[in-house]
Amino acid sequence: MAVAEPFDEKDLWPTERLWAMAWRRLKRVLGHAYQRLPFYRKRFEAADITPDDIRTPSDLARLPLLTKAEVLALQAQGEAPFFGMEWWARQEPSVFLLSSGTVGTALLWEPWSKMWRRSLACARAYWHMGLRPGMKALIVAPSWHLVSLLDRMVFELIIPCEAVIVPWGTHLPLYAGPLLDTILDQRPHFVNMFLPMLYALLAECRLRGVDPKEAFSSFRTLGVTGAGMTLKAWQELDKVVGEGKLLEGYGHAEAVVSNGCRERLGHHLMLESAYVEVVDPQSGTPLPPGKRGLIVSTVLIPQGSLYIRFAPGDIGELLPEPCPCGLPWPLIEVYGRIEDQVQVGHLTLLPYDVRTCLDEVQELVAVSGAVVRRRVPLPYLEVLMERPPGANVSALEQRIKEVIGRELGLEVKIYWAQALPARWKGTPVIEEEELRNV
Ligand SMILES: [Zn+2]
Repeated sequence: MAVAEPFDEKDLWPTERLWAMAWRRLKRVLGHAYQRLPFYRKRFEAADITPDDIRTPSDLARLPLLTKAEVLALQAQGEAPFFGMEWWARQEPSVFLLSSGTVGTALLWEPWSKMWRRSLACARAYWHMGLRPGMKALIVAPSWHLVSLLDRMVFELIIPCEAVIVPWGTHLPLYAGPLLDTILDQRPHFVNMFLPMLYALLAECRLRGVDPKEAFSSFRTLGVTGAGMTLKAWQELDKVVGEGKLLEGYGHAEAVVSNGCRERLGHHLMLESAYVEVVDPQSGTPLPPGKRGLIVSTVLIPQGSLYIRFAPGDIGELLPEPCPCGLPWPLIEVYGRIEDQVQVGHLTLLPYDVRTCLDEVQELVAVSGAVVRRRVPLPYLEVLMERPPGANVSALEQRIKEVIGRELGLEVKIYWAQALPARWKGTPVIEEEELRNV
């Protein structure tokens, strides 16, 4: 299928040509890092290779993965904002940003020219999501975050909006009330936020007796990031906010930009700004499309803080099939975080896998559950579920057992609780010791 409204000619290129472009840029970044950046020079030397030894994607396995913990350790020893992994022209205006995460906050030094090139990739993603000139756009990101700066560049300079609404202090769920006021007052068309903020907005709507479909009726696109949603969870949430506008994105401040697609088969990767691999978590060897592994990315703009073979800990896969929407940008699907993996029998599972099964039981779609992790893995799965009011628990158990048996080939033991603590909303992992406290 042809793309009806391409952002530019690259939206019409074959996928192979986009990968070839990304590979050429990756090779240039590796050469640059080897020549100019002491941190990477040492990594090449420790691996006993030079950039010339990396001739094919599988050769990338010879260059070690970079973790956030390593970056934090490097930054703890160095003198901010330069740690041997940055490159910039002395006269160029730059911005100093923070990248938060589950293991800590790292620093990013980004020259203006790099921000400009990254904003072009971001603009492409937003164009695919439905942003057009003349719309009203709402920014729901903290001012210290790369996203709020990129959004300003896109909304003001690349796809000029009629208005850019920048609320003050409303990026945390705590401020859902003032944000809902802003939405009702300003009626924006294009909105992007992280998923916990959307849940907080929905709770605020319930509190005020406002139908979210009414509150969000001006939205043409509602992008959410920050969670691996199952297909069913996405469909249910799409119904709640008003059908056809919810899109799920994936990205991080260090490199990756992608856009959620209305075909809901994953996220289209903007290969112009990041080269993305899915690798075996043990060996670091790139895996072919269709295989699940650790998501690894390399920023392709050789300026500012360079993250090469960066593994933020997300688990996903490159999808082998082309997208029915016609966009050639490859698709990636994200399933969760490596620290949330649970070993059951011979299987390594993510909460996503269990949730996908639970979602097949209609009465459980909106019910919180948790996966139990044992220090010594058991041969069967254990799931803690919130007891739905008035439910026939034994009938539900039978259906859960059927679907887990069919989809995962596992037996399952189910524990019921009146209510799960707030931090267990969604489908998180709980440790065996915590099970006793429910
Ligand atoms: Zn698509």
